[in-house]
Amino acid sequence: MTQAAKTVAFPTRTLRNPTDLVESGLVAVENLPALDAVAARYAIAITPEMAELVDPRDRRDPIGRQFVPDPAELAVLTEERPDPIGDGAHQVSPGLIHRYPDRVLLKFINVCAVYCRFCFRREMVGPQTPNPNPDDVAAAVGYIRAHPEIWEVILSGGDPLVASPRRIATLIQELAAIDHVRIVRYHTRVPIVAPERVTDALIAALQSDGLTSWVAIHANHPREFTREARAAIGRLADAGLPLVSQSVLLAGINDDPDTLAALMRAFVENRVKPYYLHHGDLAPGTRQFRTSIAEGQDLMRALRGHVSGLCQPTYVLDIPGGQGKTPVGPCFTGPNGEAMTVTDFRGEAHRYPPG
Ligand SMILES: *Cc1c(COP(=O)(O)O)cnc(C)c1O
Ligand code: SF4
Repeated sequence: MTQAAKTVAFPTRTLRNPTDLVESGLVAVENLPALDAVAARYAIAITPEMAELVDPRDRRDPIGRQFVPDPAELAVLTEERPDPIGDGAHQVSPGLIHRYPDRVLLKFINVCAVYCRFCFRREMVGPQTPNPNPDDVAAAVGYIRAHPEIWEVILSGGDPLVASPRRIATLIQELAAIDHVRIVRYHTRVPIVAPERVTDALIAALQSDGLTSWVAIHANHPREFTREARAAIGRLADAGLPLVSQSVLLAGINDDPDTLAALMRAFVENRVKPYYLHHGDLAPGTRQFRTSIAEGQDLMRALRGHVSGLCQPTYVLDIPGGQGKTPVGPCFTGPNGEAMTVTDFRGEAHRYPPG
């Protein structure tokens, strides 16, 4: 018999604890005690589609690092915080965050199809957190109805596309009946990590007469665009849903110009307009994933001009106090006496006259 590589049993169901991970070959048995300590604190879930993408022999695998727990998650820095983007400061009813004038974010489910190790809401998501109950959702809808300045409702979580189509449809019908709510936006990782969930019934539930639905799809590495994921995104696009992207800048995963360009091109090739590249939030135990803002700006500079304009996301930081998202550059202009200096994508400076 020739020497075989270590057998990996591709799972057929979502892996939810360290024992599952050992059995599937994704982690070594000697790591079990350390990972049990992580599991006691943070939820774990890796769908079969994502587990299959992981190379278990590569500890730096960009898919594995996003989902496979690591003891480093228990090291919390003083600047890290349980509520890194300050949701609590703007919560107006259970699960409803009103941070910006014309839009609210509703967490109407607290579970996800996968649990990302860098998640900014990692202290709030997972099966141990109760989902908002019907009274909470009713209170949120009541608040939205009473605030005519709310033009858009963003469904987040957790991952709203994990909810049943019936539950989503009920909420969407209620929102559609409110005249001033024109847009519903879903923030989801489901089309990528659990593409089989994107069924006709789900797609029908996302839309309603009386409002326009947008879907923001979260992916961080070009390898996440499996054949099944591309098909699921295609079903959403074919149904007429406008699609935008969200990614998190992650050290060692997508923080090099080639990977970032390939990720943005993968979105565009799949009819998803790149929207946000998020700077890593100060979530507890996530230092190993964060870059500096200066590194992020260099990466954005590397994309601009060299890669199609369609492939350019806005690089944003969610200010830790809860003051919201702000673009963090890079900036291509600067003062030049009375005039301005404008820098082109090759780095050459040009004078532009005042006024
Ligand atoms: C991120 C976020 C939004 C959406 O912001 P956009 O800039 O419109 O994408 C809205 N509300 C809250 C509370 C958020 O955290
Ligand atoms: S899917 Fe989103 S909310 Fe869920 S664990 Fe990942 S980053 Fe967090």
